Amino acid sequence: MIVFDLQCGNGHRFEGWFGSSSDFADQMARSLLACPTCDDLEIAKAPMAPAIGRKSNSAPHNVEDRRKGDATDQPTSPDVSNQPIPAELKEAFRKIAKAQTQALKTSSWVGDKFADEARSMHYGEKDEKPIHGRASPKEARDLMEEGVTVAPLLIPIAPPDELN
Ligand SMILES: [Zn+2]
Repeated sequence: MIVFDLQCGNGHRFEGWFGSSSDFADQMARSLLACPTCDDLEIAKAPMAPAIGRKSNSAPHNVEDRRKGDATDQPTSPDVSNQPIPAELKEAFRKIAKAQTQALKTSSWVGDKFADEARSMHYGEKDEKPIHGRASPKEARDLMEEGVTVAPLLIPIAPPDELN
């Protein structure tokens, strides 16, 4: 079967189904085709129009595809693994944590005052002593620019004032 978009002399468009292209030509020649709206016999193939039906059907598909694309573009989350942490890595972390705890034994927790304290010591306003605390990335950068020694703690520690 073959379908043609047909148009009568009055501009009515309708679909005509035929066994073949020559079938259509034959029916045309014998004036067997009439407009379903006005019975006009002056039938011709309608100018080729974009397949409107198919186009609208495919639109939701495109939207769906775009949504899927957006999902993959979302900000990446921290890398994770579904594998357990290897024993060697756990042991290494334990050693680092122990060494850090050892190093911080003589150090005082100053919390969010770290930047102020470190700066005061650097400029001789206070006696120098080991301290550790919190600093925002900006604070840490500012301190380093001023020549104050700042080193990140490798293992996050629970602040003493938050343990109570
Ligand atoms: Zn018509």
